[in-house]
Amino acid sequence: MRVRPSDGVAFETKFPVVIIGGGACGLTAALTLGDAGSAALVLEQDPLPAGSTGLSSGFIPAAATRWQRERAVEDSVELMAGDIQAKARHLADAAIVDLCCRRSGPTLEWLADRHGIPFVLIEGFLYTGQSRARMHAVPERTGAALMARLLAAAEAVQADILCGAEVSELFADGDGRVRGVGFRRPDGGAERVACEALILACNGFGGNPDMVRQHIPEMAEAEYFGHAGNRGHAVLWGEALGAEARHMGAYQGHASVAVPHGILITWAVMREGGIQVNGEGKRFADESRGYSEHSVDVLAQPGGTVWDIYDSRIHALAMEFEDYRQAQAAGAVKRAADETALAGTLGLPEAALRETLALTRSSAEDPFGRRFDDKPALAPPYYAVKVGAALFHTQGGLAIDISARVLRQGGGALPNLFAGGGAACGVSGPEVWGYSSGNGLLTAVMLGRVAGESAAALVS
Ligand SMILES: Cc1cc2nc3c(=O)[nH]c(=O)nc-3n(C[C@H](O)[C@H](O)[C@H](O)COP(=O)(O)OP(=O)(O)OC[C@H]3O[C@@H](n4cnc5c(N)ncnc54)[C@H](O)[C@@H]3O)c2cc1C
Repeated sequence: MRVRPSDGVAFETKFPVVIIGGGACGLTAALTLGDAGSAALVLEQDPLPAGSTGLSSGFIPAAATRWQRERAVEDSVELMAGDIQAKARHLADAAIVDLCCRRSGPTLEWLADRHGIPFVLIEGFLYTGQSRARMHAVPERTGAALMARLLAAAEAVQADILCGAEVSELFADGDGRVRGVGFRRPDGGAERVACEALILACNGFGGNPDMVRQHIPEMAEAEYFGHAGNRGHAVLWGEALGAEARHMGAYQGHASVAVPHGILITWAVMREGGIQVNGEGKRFADESRGYSEHSVDVLAQPGGTVWDIYDSRIHALAMEFEDYRQAQAAGAVKRAADETALAGTLGLPEAALRETLALTRSSAEDPFGRRFDDKPALAPPYYAVKVGAALFHTQGGLAIDISARVLRQGGGALPNLFAGGGAACGVSGPEVWGYSSGNGLLTAVMLGRVAGESAAALVS
C-alpha cells in the first residue's frame, strides 16, 4: 500500500473524482457526485460491493426526521449531538459531531426523495447512547438490504462502479496532491486512473491483525466480525502523505455474538432487562453501559464465553430482528421452564444462578451499579444464548475537517484528499466506551455525503 511520486506516471484513464470503496460511504458519495453532475469512479476490490455495511444491521441514527415526526418523536440535532458527546465523554471532535448530526435528517430524506430509498423508524426501545428513538433502517432492517438499495440507486443514475479493482497504490506530487491511483484486477493485470480529487471510503483496519494488535491490543485475539477486506489502507496511505490519524484505539466491540453460530444477538435483550452470566452463574459487569465496552469484560471471562439470559417478553421483542430469528432457527436460543431447568440446560451451578436472578429482583443496590427497577422483572420461562465478544469495526482513522478534507499532521488540509466512514476518525472519542449505537453508519453516510459535495465543488 504505497504512495509513489506521480512524476512521469502515465494513466490509462481519467476521472475527475475517484472513490476507493463501495460501501455506504462510497456509494453515498457517488450518488452525491452524480447529483452534482461530476463524473466519479468507484473502485471496489470485491466482485460485488458489500463491505461491512452489507454485514451490518443497517441502522442509521438521524435527528428531527420526518419519520420521527410521523411517530411524534421529539428530537433535535442538539439532543443527538449531546447524546453522542456524553457517551464519548466529550472527547469526540465537536465540529464533526455537529456536522454529522446536522446533516443526518436531511441526508436520509434526500436518499428517500431523490434516490427512492425508503426508511422506517425503529421503535420499541432505546439504543445505547440514544435518548430518543432515532435509529432508521430500510424496511427489511438489514445492512444487506441497505446495500442492495444503495446499489440499485447507484445503478439507476448510472454511477460508474468498477468491481474487482483493488487499489494498491496512490500517486502524489510533492505537496501531497493525489494525481491518481493504481489498482489490480483479478486476472493479475494492473491499471492506473488519474483523478483531481480522491475520496477514501475503504473503511478502517479491523481486517489487519497487525494494526489491531498495535492499536487495540485488548481485541487482538477477538474475532473480527466486519469485512475482512478492510485492512487499514486509508490510514496507511494518509500517513504516507503526512496526514494525521486520530483515536486509533477507538472501536465498536460487541458483547453478544452467538457461539458457535457467529450470529449477532441484539443488545436490546440487555436493554430490556436481560443479564449476562459467566460459567459460575454470576454476573460480572453492568450490562446497561453498552455492548461495545462490555465486549472487553466478556473476553475476560473464562473461555471468553458467557450466557445471555432473559425471558419470553424479551424473546418476543428480539424476534423482530432478522439475525435473532436466524439464531433461533439455528438452535442457538435455549428455552427453560424454570430456574432448575435453566441451570441444567446451561450446565451452570443452580444455587449461584438462582442467587444471581434473585438479585435482579431485589431492591438491594446492584454491585455493578445497574438499575433493574425500570423494566419488568425477569420471569420464567427463561431464554438463553451462549455468546462471545467480537470486534465489529474500528473507529480511529484520518483526521478530517467539516468538508471531509483529510488534515495534515501539524495543521492544514491535504489539497484534494477526502475521507469518510471508517476511513476517517469517528465520533466515539479515543476508546471503546465512547461508541454510541449507530456511530458507524452515521459517519459513513453523512461524511460520504459531505465528501461527495466537497469533491464536486473542487473539480467543478
Ligand atoms: C455485524 C455488524 C453490525 C453492524 N451494525 C451497525 C449498525 O446497525 N449501525 C451502524 O451505524 N453501524 C453498524 N456497524 C458498523 C458499520 O457496518 C460500519 O461502520 C460501516 O458499514 C462503515 O461503512 P464504510 O462505507 O466506511 O465501509 P464498508 O461498508 O466496509 O465499505 C468499504 C469498502 O471498501 C472496500 N475496500 C477496502 N480496501 C479497498 C481497496 N484497497 N481497494 C478497493 N476497495 C477497497 C471494501 O471491500 C468495502 O467494500 C456494524 C458492523 C458490523 C460488523
